[in-house]
Amino acid sequence: MAEQSGEASSSSSVTEAPATAQQLHEELDKIKELLEPEKKKRKLLRGDGKSEQKLEHRLGGILCCAVCLDLPRAAVYQCTNGHLMCAGCFTHVLADARLRDELATCPNCRIEISKTSASRNLAVEKAVSELPAECQFCAKEFPRNSLERHEESMCEERISSCKYSRIGCPWRGPNHESSEHETHCVHPHRTGADVMEALRDIDARTLEERRLYDNVFDLLSYEKITFNDLQMKPYRTDEYVHKLFYETARFTAFNYQWVVKARINNSQRDPTQSSERDMTYQLILKSKTTYPLSLHYLILKGPFGDMKVKTRIHRFDFTDSDNESPYLPLPLPDTNECNRLLAVKAINFRLIMFLASK
Ligand SMILES: [Zn+2]
Ligand SMILES: [Zn+2]
Ligand SMILES: [Zn+2]
Ligand SMILES: [Zn+2]
Repeated sequence: MAEQSGEASSSSSVTEAPATAQQLHEELDKIKELLEPEKKKRKLLRGDGKSEQKLEHRLGGILCCAVCLDLPRAAVYQCTNGHLMCAGCFTHVLADARLRDELATCPNCRIEISKTSASRNLAVEKAVSELPAECQFCAKEFPRNSLERHEESMCEERISSCKYSRIGCPWRGPNHESSEHETHCVHPHRTGADVMEALRDIDARTLEERRLYDNVFDLLSYEKITFNDLQMKPYRTDEYVHKLFYETARFTAFNYQWVVKARINNSQRDPTQSSERDMTYQLILKSKTTYPLSLHYLILKGPFGDMKVKTRIHRFDFTDSDNESPYLPLPLPDTNECNRLLAVKAINFRLIMFLASK
């Protein structure tokens, strides 16, 4: 029988938590300052130092999720006393309590919360979607609900390709320079033989994509499939150079307990020294098993996340002696997306696991 868990299962909060939530957020802010010097500078220069006083900043502090302190991107829930939680944190709190076999309580006031006693707060959801957010390309501010459209199709500074990229032009640059480039682009004048090479590359990429989809459909025929909507939170090591890492709470799948960990710039000792940034993650089996678990797994952005992650399937045989998968890349489009994830206080994603039968 297929196992299925509709909501996040997570569990016993990490007992060896390094610090209180408040300390952790302060630490994280410090690390982020190091990681994002340019953005910080821009912020300091803007609004002659009065940016803290602006109404939208004050509102941001009021409308944010009381748990992760981020501005919610999707549904906002509230306890009967009115404390706000983003959908990701709400699911997390409920799942945590279920795994510990306790009643879920509001992290603020400890009143009991459940799917039925908590309600959505539409006014807050709408107000948040009207708050300004900064375009990653032109740094101008737009209401959150229109930012994505602006970045994808309107921004003059967004990075775009030459319209002849399909026949091999590698040019990429700000959108407002593309028509100038295209009028002088040499690629439309190349011979059919030259173009063939580019077409072969495209064919190879298409084939690779086809293989991925075929693979996913094969996996969907497995008997044992489960998904968990998880939340990774940042921690730091106690080394001299504070190394940032991420971890989910424990969650249950196939009656075993698991945890996901993630790192920034895996091989590097100090990621703040590098402008290129990436994230790697590993899956860890926390329960004992008498036989090897042959597992395929993949990560998606899920219903509460907005991580622009590409689909990649990994496979690992978990045993008692080999209960940690290697750190594998989380396929993000670029350093920008990685930095954006570092700037939020919790990363929401969906992990789908497929267990091969014995
Ligand atoms: Zn939250
Ligand atoms: Zn409350
Ligand atoms: Zn823009
Ligand atoms: Zn071109």
